[in-house]
Amino acid sequence: MADTLDIAWATDWVKACAAVVAEHRMELIDLDRAIGDGDHGENLDRGFKAVLVKLEAAEPATVGDVLKLVATTLMSTVGGAAGPLYGTAFLRAAKTADGATIDAAGVADLLAAGVEGIVARGKAEVGDKTMVDAWAPAVEAARAAAEAGKTATEALRAAATAARTGAETTDPLVARKGRASYLGERAIGHRDPGAESSAMLLEAAADVAEGGG
Ligand code: ADP
Ligand code: MG
Repeated sequence: MADTLDIAWATDWVKACAAVVAEHRMELIDLDRAIGDGDHGENLDRGFKAVLVKLEAAEPATVGDVLKLVATTLMSTVGGAAGPLYGTAFLRAAKTADGATIDAAGVADLLAAGVEGIVARGKAEVGDKTMVDAWAPAVEAARAAAEAGKTATEALRAAATAARTGAETTDPLVARKGRASYLGERAIGHRDPGAESSAMLLEAAADVAEGGG
């Protein structure tokens, strides 16, 4: 298990993101059909496929370069709310990752910068039934892991587990941001698609760090 994460992890994570989004495309579409317009899975799948093409042609030197490439590609290829939100998250995260490797505190910093970007852009708070409900607990879990002296890989796994639980907490909520907010109580009982995709991406990050994925 790696103590720190490097550019090989970052490129493998991006590939794993593309794979997991492609695999769960229909599931994300169905979630967004229930409380939105049904495009979330399609949007992300198109975005990460474009990222793979760009990654093939690029020669990133740092984790930050990889994350920046993801950010700019998602911003230009993914429509709707999620494109700019994920784009901003990856862009802010990229700025924290300009060194060769990332330790557990670096994982927490990276995720914290990501959620700050999402909040700066979308103004959602925890409990609004958005992707923030997955990201915010992930940051807290990564920070706690770092402070407990865990490895970067362990911090990522803690973050992924917290993001998964956070996504599940959106099920009973009424949405206060985004398209789902138009539905009022009809959103109750449905998982927020962006929280679900966020949990998937963070699980992919941990899987890759652990040598799987
Ligand atoms: P759209 O809603 O434009 O069709 P997507 O379907 O791709 O965009 O993404 C919807 C997801 O975006 C939601 O499930 C939610 O997680 C996230 N989202 C929407 N608005 C906000 C916001 N203001 N802040 C954070 N996340 C948001
Ligand atoms: Mg949508």
